[in-house]
Amino acid sequence: MSHDVSKSYEMFKEVQDYVPGGVNFPRTPLFLTYGVHPAFIQRTKGARFWDVDGNEYIDYMCSFGAVGIGYNHPAVDEAYNKQLALSNSSTLPSFQWLEFAKFLVGEIPYMDWTVYGKNGSDATTFAAMAARAHTGKNGIVMANNSYHGLHNWCIHSDVGIPAEYKSHVYHYDYHDLEGLGKLMEEKKDEIAAVFLLPLGHWAMMNQTEPQPGYFETVREICDKAGALMLIDDVRAGFRVHYEGTHCHYGKANPDIICFGKTIANGYPLSVAMGTKAIMESAKKVYWSGTHFYSAAPMAAARACMTEIKASGAIEKIRLFGEKLQAGLREQAKLHEVEVTVSGHPAMPYMLFGEDPSLEKMRFFCGEAAKRGIFLHPHHNWFISSSLTEEDMDKTLEVTDQCFKIVAEQKG
Ligand code: PMP
Repeated sequence: MSHDVSKSYEMFKEVQDYVPGGVNFPRTPLFLTYGVHPAFIQRTKGARFWDVDGNEYIDYMCSFGAVGIGYNHPAVDEAYNKQLALSNSSTLPSFQWLEFAKFLVGEIPYMDWTVYGKNGSDATTFAAMAARAHTGKNGIVMANNSYHGLHNWCIHSDVGIPAEYKSHVYHYDYHDLEGLGKLMEEKKDEIAAVFLLPLGHWAMMNQTEPQPGYFETVREICDKAGALMLIDDVRAGFRVHYEGTHCHYGKANPDIICFGKTIANGYPLSVAMGTKAIMESAKKVYWSGTHFYSAAPMAAARACMTEIKASGAIEKIRLFGEKLQAGLREQAKLHEVEVTVSGHPAMPYMLFGEDPSLEKMRFFCGEAAKRGIFLHPHHNWFISSSLTEEDMDKTLEVTDQCFKIVAEQKG
């Protein structure tokens, strides 16, 4: 089968001289099936992208979740371009600053205010700062293996970061609420907040979902310890539930929720939204970035959220995800290959049995890429609402072939 990615790898070699490390983790081909997956993209449209060698893929990564309703979405792009023609970067904030804040607060009914950022890391950092300002305590509790962004207070890497910057971070096991309760009781004078993921979208591990009553229990634990409950919905937001992923699983609301990625369908915007009760503390946090004020991404986000709601995108995503998950389970069984297909259907993932180094997974995803289906071997996948039934049929046709090859060559 001819699948040529030579231009991608020539570029990947050349870029080493221009960008330290070539391409930053996690978007490097070293995190994919190296040599088989493409490294650079030429063009995107809907649920597809074309790499620099001209190969076409149905994309199950959606720009690592930044795109929910399809690349180059006409309504979102139109809103973005219209605002761009009026103003984008400007000396004073544009009228969008107020307009979009009012819109957001109306759409996310349990929240009273918003602050703006660009990347998800901005929103999570603001949330941690506001919680510290509000409680007068420094500790932030997060689940093992969770990712809340790249800023110094929480990043998992130690390179270039003094250890004391992270000395106020505590960990718990996501599903061990008894352990969390104990930790909070023990450290209640130190802990400002629990930073929660609305579901367990772990890298290179089976995905997990919260048990019934999870958020209600965490809320009680936080209230008892005088700590805030923060939700990091940067990755899952607007894919599982329009008002916040936790709403799909429970009733308890956070003090602050962070959105990013899908909110503007690929345009740079993140927000941290909070309740009236902590608004005075949020006011005191110094918060500014040159591009936080850009108006066009706000216009794009409004169009994106409007489109998500009007088009039933979340339901479409769930249905496609369910079809993919069911198809994979059925095919694996048929080919007598052991797999675990996990996660909410909007953000599924799969792992093979007896595959500790994920070598089978890389092989499977590489074979899928050769046939035009882009699945990540190490990171949860993202379903686009712009997929069609034909795309899903083609995807499952390819995964069936890939399972067959895995059974023959790696069984
Ligand atoms: N929180 C979560 C749950 C994320 O998945 C990410 C990004 N993968 C972030 C925060 C940080 O977002 P960004 O990369 O946009 O800064």
